[in-house]
Amino acid sequence: MEVVHISAECYPVAKAGGLGDVVGALPKYQNKAGITSKVVLPMYRTPFLYTSDWVVDYKAKAYMGGWEFEYTIIKEVSNKLGFDLYLVDIAGLLDRQKIYGYADDAKRFTAFQIAVVHWMSHWNHQPTAVHCHDYHAGLIPFMMQHCYDYQNLKDVPTVLTIHNAQYQGWMPWAQSLLIPRWDLSKKGLLDWGDSINPLAAAIKCASKVTTVSPSYMQELMHNANGLETLIAAEKNKCVGILNGIDHEVWNPSTDNYLTEHFSVKTVTAGKQKNKQNICDQFGLDAAKPLFVFIGRLVGEKAADVLPGALHIAVQTYGAKASYVILGSGEPAVEAGLTNLALANNNCIKVSVGYNESLSHGLYAAADFLLMPSRVEPCGLNQLYAMRYGTVPMVRSTGGLQDTVIDMGDEGGYGIRFTHANETDIVQSIRRAVEVFENKKHLLWMRERMMQINHSWEQTVQSYTRVYDSI
Ligand code: ADP
Repeated sequence: MEVVHISAECYPVAKAGGLGDVVGALPKYQNKAGITSKVVLPMYRTPFLYTSDWVVDYKAKAYMGGWEFEYTIIKEVSNKLGFDLYLVDIAGLLDRQKIYGYADDAKRFTAFQIAVVHWMSHWNHQPTAVHCHDYHAGLIPFMMQHCYDYQNLKDVPTVLTIHNAQYQGWMPWAQSLLIPRWDLSKKGLLDWGDSINPLAAAIKCASKVTTVSPSYMQELMHNANGLETLIAAEKNKCVGILNGIDHEVWNPSTDNYLTEHFSVKTVTAGKQKNKQNICDQFGLDAAKPLFVFIGRLVGEKAADVLPGALHIAVQTYGAKASYVILGSGEPAVEAGLTNLALANNNCIKVSVGYNESLSHGLYAAADFLLMPSRVEPCGLNQLYAMRYGTVPMVRSTGGLQDTVIDMGDEGGYGIRFTHANETDIVQSIRRAVEVFENKKHLLWMRERMMQINHSWEQTVQSYTRVYDSI
């Protein structure tokens, strides 16, 4: 079986969030399970590019609208990620440092997809399945089936995985000219709400659709940023598969980013050493419970509620606890948190930006990880936290609901709450501070969480069943 994953992110090549983690891990574990799984992504100018060895695999010209462009496919030579990795270079569009956030993103990802389909249509064989991730690869199933030049791919099965339905890649109809000669009678497959919607097009055209947790699959039928009725109509080809975590990357006994390693047996001392390191770095007291938040500072993550909630928590509990926030996103939230930290310098610290190394240090050091998300398709942070013996405090939604059992319920090891508001967050902090005092219970929860198996090995089987079904 040969599967081609097409994505905008893949750790450690290019990562902005969970999509990168998944595409960096799933293909690796698929290869270990005997599936020939390859990854194709744009050739951004990230450090990985300059620290790896490459060969040119293919070079050709394709059209986007009236513009003929040249693309080059390079392949990583040593298979160092555990799968064949291909990068697509298109001068002027993909040769940039950042993954997203440019005014011409629609054009960049359309050109990327055209190049990938053009390239695959020139292979001397066909893959078993083409696996598209999120809207950045959403036009691919349509192009394989309905562009005149790629008809040799029209019977190749396709899978779409929705990692986040909030972002759909909307394009005005004027941009339909960018898509290579296509069957105009199929216009309805591209359209949703009077614009070209790549995510909707993929939901309509893919042979199967997966989401990254069973609960998120159910939620999308009621809350999918405008796609609810489409998802409900296509529900028979949709399935929710919970993400795994890469135990080779996220392992507190071997993690390259940590100087103090620990296992289930040494969790108390190990976490305390990591906490001391982080507290020394930030000027915090390591005797107090440490709460962290790691993630994009956006509405989906309810980051806008954090400044108010932490303000009340500090007013209520004084400096009984410490808080470290790592993330970037909406400027108003960044400013709100930064001001809060300035006003409460003894117990609140904010690091604005993306910092892979610090994130690992925080998972290892923290006692509690706060995730009040309004929307959380799967959520990986809570899984990493658990692996590092850190109690997750989560809002009951999506994958958080599928992976965290409240400590008040039988066998529970986390803290769950219902609303993404100040009251619920402050109330949860109160519960956390209480359990922090109960060292026996805390140790029991840490040991329990660290032993939960969220490995990709079992998830790979669920994806194999999807491929088998198509
Ligand atoms: P998302 O919706 O952002 O994809 P996930 O929980 O699925 O959320 O995955 C988030 C991933 O991104 C995790 O690996 C997390 O550690 C990482 N991450 C998020 N923000 C940052 C940051 N500012 N610095 C380092 N890592 C981050």
